Order: sequence, then structure tokens, then C-alpha cells
Amino acid sequence: MTAGSEQTIMFEGAEIHLPLFLDHQSTTPLAPEVRDTLFQTYEQPGNQDSLTHAFGHAARQTVQKAKRHIAALISAHADEIIFTSGATEANNLALFGLVTPPYAGKQVITTPIEHSSILSPLKEMEKQGLTVTFAAVDGQGRVSLTDLESKISGQTALVTIQSANNEIGTIQPLSRIAALCAAHGVPFHTDAVQAAATEKIDASLPGLTALSLSAHKLYGPQGIGALFIRRGTSLSPTLFGGDQQNSRRPGTLPTALIAGFGTAAKLAHQNRDHDHHSLASLAQRLRDILIQNPHVDVRFNGDPDNRLPGCLSLTFGRIEAEDLILEMPELAISTGSACLSSSGGPSHVLTAIGLSPEEAGRTVRIGLGRYVTETECAFAASIIVAAYERLLKTQ
Ligand code: PMP
Repeated sequence: MTAGSEQTIMFEGAEIHLPLFLDHQSTTPLAPEVRDTLFQTYEQPGNQDSLTHAFGHAARQTVQKAKRHIAALISAHADEIIFTSGATEANNLALFGLVTPPYAGKQVITTPIEHSSILSPLKEMEKQGLTVTFAAVDGQGRVSLTDLESKISGQTALVTIQSANNEIGTIQPLSRIAALCAAHGVPFHTDAVQAAATEKIDASLPGLTALSLSAHKLYGPQGIGALFIRRGTSLSPTLFGGDQQNSRRPGTLPTALIAGFGTAAKLAHQNRDHDHHSLASLAQRLRDILIQNPHVDVRFNGDPDNRLPGCLSLTFGRIEAEDLILEMPELAISTGSACLSSSGGPSHVLTAIGLSPEEAGRTVRIGLGRYVTETECAFAASIIVAAYERLLKTQ
């Protein structure tokens, strides 16, 4: 992956393109197969709802095929998939579509470590009378099932809890949350954006009502996502227009983006276990190099066992994250969520798991991905160690 001033260097006998993209939680590069699908599909005009001619029929077939791949990835039925512009829209559709006004007297339960595309709409709904309740998470970001259960009441209209966190990589106990919601007869939505590339996601779990996905976290194109919504669930639209997607989300479907999403889902399904294990071993290598270096004071955040294999959240001693990132132009890494990069304050995820604002300010996120090699990983570790040591000397 190359960007900006492209440069190639040799490391341990291999060519490395700089800067090295290690921010796969923010977005993933297109899989070559997805790029091919996009180009091929863009060659043909086609609106899947123009069924008076062959172009429309071909587009419809393309969309149906993609839907089947996406549904298969999450063990859903094709007719349970609604396409959206991304997961921000899918999350908004889930919240505003499943919880309808008047909001007074209704409660939504969530966690303090959700993505802003859950927390911001909930804030809006709160202004209009909704009660938003937070189930506690522990120091590793795992939700307390006891606390969650104690907060479910007769007013609970929805529980929404992410499948995996985009900053610290912690995976939530989805089947147990779904079972709890089922036992209380409460709908459950999960933002599965970060988990879908490497974790088995089962939308057919009893108790799971809705689930959000985004293609660009799966090596697919940006600008397309989906909401799984269980058969028979009533969903109010948030957009009004034509009768596409049974009017639940109107608008001309972007055939090529959907085809690309379908190819990405098919690849994710085929490669999931392989990707999971190879990312876990890459992450282990990076972690070992950093931990074993006596000069580097670093701590890893999140659940050590239940975690996204490629997502590393590292809190360094004494060195500010921003200084470290500036010291390493060879690496494209981040301090946290790209969606909140202009908000300034410490990450709400890191503070919710108990980090002080100072510790949050010394935390970086590294996101490994499918096409990162072992040598690139060792290179990244060597760059981090060298930059850290240089900065320590200037203190
Ligand atoms: N949820 C999570 C957990 C995410 O990481 C993101 C993307 N950063 C989103 C939702 C929003 O997805 P999109 O970019 O498709 O709107």
C-alpha cells in the first residue's frame, strides 16, 4: 500500500513500500478481486429496478448474487439484507427504524465504548425524550452481562452493543447477549463492522434482530454497507423516496459497489479462518518484539483473549502518541478512531476502560491486515523501537 511520497526500501531482503499502511481499523485496501469486480460492473449501465430491458435484469442478478454472498458471510437470508451507504447509515437506520417516536418512556441500552455512529444518534434521540442507559464494561472493554440484565426494563425498546471495538479490538459475548435479550423479549442490534472480516458472525442467533456491516472494513469499496434485519421485523424508514428495497431504504442501488461488497464478503467468508490466524501470529510477533525490548515501556489494551487479531492498542510510557506518530513517517498508524480524529479530547473508549486522559494521550492504534507480511511487521516493530528510543533521549 503506498500513499503520498512513495518510496521503497529494503528490509531483511524484502522490498517495503512506504509509508506502510497499518490502519486497517479505519479502512482496508481493496482486495484485487474486488477491484476487478468493480471495474467489470462499472462497464455496464444498469439499474436493478429498471426491469423493462436486459440491463436492468443483469443489474438485478448482480445485486442478488452479492446479497447471497453477504448473507452467507453472516448466516442470514438474502432477503434480510438492506443496502445502505455504509455502516453509519446502517446504524442510524437500526436505531431510528427500530425505535420510533414518541421516545418518552422508551429506553435504549448500549455501552460507553460504541462507535460514534451509535452514540451520536442516541444523543439526538435522548434530546427528544429517549432514555439512554449504559451497561458497564470492564477494564478490558467486555460488557458486564449482569449489569446489562439488571438494566433491562419494561421500557427497553432496544439493546445495541457492538460485536467488536474499533479502538481496542475487544470482542463482546454476542451469543450470550442475544440469549439474554431473547429471554427478556427485547430486540438486539449489533454493529458488526469491525468483526466481520475475521470473526464468525452468526445473524441467525436467537435473539439477534439487526446487524450492521460496512464493505470498506472487509477489503471492499467505501460508500456501501448493509443492515441485516431479521425476517418479520418491522422497520420504519428514515429516508423517503421510491419503492426500492420495499421502501425501507429507497434510492437507486449502486450496482458496482454492491457487486464489490459481494466479492469482498465472499472472500472474507473463504479466508476468514486463515486471515484470523495469520493476523494473530503477525500481532504476536509485533507484540513480542516490543515487549522483549528492555527500553520500550508499553502496555496493550483490550481483552487479551477475546479480541480482533489485527487490532493493537498500545499505551506507551512517557512518550506522547502524537510525537511518536510524527517520529515515524514510515508507518501509517493512528491514535484511535478516524471518525473522531478532529474531536480533540481523549478517546471515550480508552477512558471508559479506565485509562487516564494522560494514558489515552500516550496510546496508539495499529491495525494489521490481510496483505501485511511478516517482514513488514518486523519492520514496523523496528521503526517503533527506534522512534521510541530517539524520543526518550530528547526528554
Ligand atoms: N462502526 C464501527 C465499529 C466502525 O469502526 C465504523 C467505521 N469507522 C463505523 C461503524 C462506520 O462505518 P462507515 O465508515 O461505513 O460509515
